[in-house]
Amino acid sequence: MDVDRSQASGPGASHVRLAKLLRGAGSVVALTGAGVSVPSGIPDFRSPGTGLWERVDPMEVAHIDVFHTEPERFWHFYGERFAALEDKQPNEVHRALVTLEREGLLDAVITQNIDMLHRKAGTRELVEVHGSIDRCSCLACGARVTLAQARSRLAADEAGVPRCERCAAPLKPDVVLFGEMLPAAAMERAQELCASADLLLCIGSSLEVHPVASLPLLTHRAGGAVAILTQGRTPLDGLAAVRLDGDLVDEMQALLGALGLGWGLPSESAAQAGI
Ligand code: ZN
Repeated sequence: MDVDRSQASGPGASHVRLAKLLRGAGSVVALTGAGVSVPSGIPDFRSPGTGLWERVDPMEVAHIDVFHTEPERFWHFYGERFAALEDKQPNEVHRALVTLEREGLLDAVITQNIDMLHRKAGTRELVEVHGSIDRCSCLACGARVTLAQARSRLAADEAGVPRCERCAAPLKPDVVLFGEMLPAAAMERAQELCASADLLLCIGSSLEVHPVASLPLLTHRAGGAVAILTQGRTPLDGLAAVRLDGDLVDEMQALLGALGLGWGLPSESAAQAGI
């Protein structure tokens, strides 16, 4: 977004405090949720929204049971989801996290988002606990295809269901659907990172969806600090060492300001990955 934020207020006391925590921490990890993608034009379906989410209930249709029993209905929805996500670009929040990582101030990003925007921004150490739209898999034979291949098969199929070239079973996006477990390896990695973090930055997550919502507790119980940057209340506000609830882009800009860092990246970096 090319919004002129020169009028935005500078760092406040909370930003300075968070900057000190960041500078003083040996290990810093970020945990991001849907709010981080909102400035890129991707609405959070848990908030009353627009477009796709108004016409269908994603918790009902993006369900593993629907995928198995009604693949046409599932893919009618998910095909629209692909189309809505494929041209979205990272925003200032994604780029701020890349800046922190490059400055040696951030060890990893754990994300609940499936939209590949952290990758497109250039985050190197990334744990996608809900998977990613980057690939689709065949549950019958294990074949995997790229997003582009899945989209072209979807477009070519009469029923609008992308199918496996080897065994003709419907392909499934490599994202965690409702009714599915989270990928064990990614969740284990996320737990390790959170348990050993001196500081966990929770950004744009309502911290309501388990098991991800319990990750900040691992940091807190191990003696680390938790900072929450999210609009609206979260169940973990009471344990936050720093709580920022303004516009995420403004909050991250103020944080980088308090750290003496500017917005760090040329926009060409967005072209380096993905679709
Ligand atoms: Zn197959």
